[in-house]
Amino acid sequence: MSTIVVGGGVTGLVAAYRLRARLGPHARITVVEQADRLGGKLRTVELAGTPTDVGAEAFVLRNPAAADLVAELGLGERLRHPERAAATIRAGGRTVALPKRTFLGVPADADLVRPVLSRDGAERVAAEPALPPLEIHGDDVSVGEVLAHRFGRELVDHLVEPLLGGVYAGRADRLGLRATMPALVDALGPAGGSLTGAAARVLGDATRSDKPVFGALEGGMAVLVDELAKAADVRLGRPVRELRRDGDGWRLVIGSTKDAEVLHADAVVLAVPPPAARKLLTDVVPAAAAAYAGIEVGSMAVLSMVLPDGVTLPDTSGVLLAVGERHGDGTPFTAKAFTHTSVKWGGTPVRLRASVGRVGETGLLRRDDDDLLRAVRADLAELTGVTAAPVDWTVTRWGGGLPQYGVGHIAAVDAIERAVAEVPGLAVAGASFRGVGIPACVDSATAAAHRVAGHLRQRTDAK
Ligand SMILES: Cc1cc2nc3c(=O)[nH]c(=O)nc-3n(C[C@H](O)[C@H](O)[C@H](O)COP(=O)(O)OP(=O)(O)OC[C@H]3O[C@@H](n4cnc5c(N)ncnc54)[C@H](O)[C@@H]3O)c2cc1C
Repeated sequence: MSTIVVGGGVTGLVAAYRLRARLGPHARITVVEQADRLGGKLRTVELAGTPTDVGAEAFVLRNPAAADLVAELGLGERLRHPERAAATIRAGGRTVALPKRTFLGVPADADLVRPVLSRDGAERVAAEPALPPLEIHGDDVSVGEVLAHRFGRELVDHLVEPLLGGVYAGRADRLGLRATMPALVDALGPAGGSLTGAAARVLGDATRSDKPVFGALEGGMAVLVDELAKAADVRLGRPVRELRRDGDGWRLVIGSTKDAEVLHADAVVLAVPPPAARKLLTDVVPAAAAAYAGIEVGSMAVLSMVLPDGVTLPDTSGVLLAVGERHGDGTPFTAKAFTHTSVKWGGTPVRLRASVGRVGETGLLRRDDDDLLRAVRADLAELTGVTAAPVDWTVTRWGGGLPQYGVGHIAAVDAIERAVAEVPGLAVAGASFRGVGIPACVDSATAAAHRVAGHLRQRTDAK
């Protein structure tokens, strides 16, 4: 029994780990990864001797899948929670505490978002519960359009887009409401209602709880990657270029054209981003390939730096930047968010990271590293007064790093899953499906592994 997992990001690695648990020590499970390292968007590098995550850095605990996996792998002692430093947002030229009791910026209480809005903006938000009930049936709708209509554009630019930008590197106008905030749409109920009321129902008492919201790993995400990798044989630096049916199994061509190699497998899990999945499925599952083509991807960069000892960062976990924020001299900010890493997670040295770029801002990511550093340092000086040169730093570009959950996303996912369900011994999984965060990827990988393991068991029983 042999299974090939295409893609060695967290999804592929978790799929391999789950397959090992289901199929036992003798099953052949191979992860084929095009890059020369595992982890995909989980990447830990050394900066000034300190392990530093330059991709994903933390996972939410509301969906316990990632934290449970960490415990299951025996890594529980490495789980860390943020210090109690408050998050902030710069909106309308002022840096204020990030309003509490919002669902991705949709307020459960209009009064709490006043600090990020003008007087008129706050009045629009306060008036939302009295608007005619909002009903969302059938097709999805644009986050930006609906929220601007209900609450005014200012709330979208000052709060919703910075928060969504953090998750998807996306634009509110191009993201789907049901795709990105399904719980909010569900809470509207069939009869519809106000979004303020729906947000209050979704949040319940959650934001009043003292429980930590995020977890991270001491030593970085590499710790998780290394542990998961033990479950499978790993082929690095080998792109899968072709996937074909081969009797009731699969034939894969891997490696460069000069150095091609053919592998055979009884089952395949595809855990790659939409452009790669589209290419590999074009001949074998054309309907799925067509639907993958409808999932856009957004690019961004992370600039991580270590500052000299003695530099004092603000006592906050970081700052998000609202759309259109400018320096005092009128120049726009380059970063869309800063994490004050050493304040948020504790410990030394003094370190932070800046996120740069949203979908469509490709020009920004073409600027060279020194230029990006200069721009981000100017932002940092404007926001915090910190002007010290970093003792170590690195820019990590994530081209096509985040799938965009656009207005057509739910339909695309349904179409992919319907088409793949008809093909025995094939499963697809990853950040394109039901959440881009690590816990959602763990769930997606688990479901794919169970599907494939079920298929293999059936085949063995039938023989
Ligand atoms: C900068 C950044 C910060 C983030 N921060 C967080 C965070 O703090 N918390 C959080 O929960 N989530 C975060 N995310 C999201 C999360 O990290 C990703 O959605 C998740 O890691 C995706 O995992 P994946 O395995 O599905 O895909 P990927 O990590 O993209 O892995 C897919 C793998 O497939 C490989 N591949 C592609 N094509 C082929 C091929 N043809 N053959 C072989 N291999 C191939 C790729 O090289 C890659 O290694 C962040 C994302 C980014 C980009």
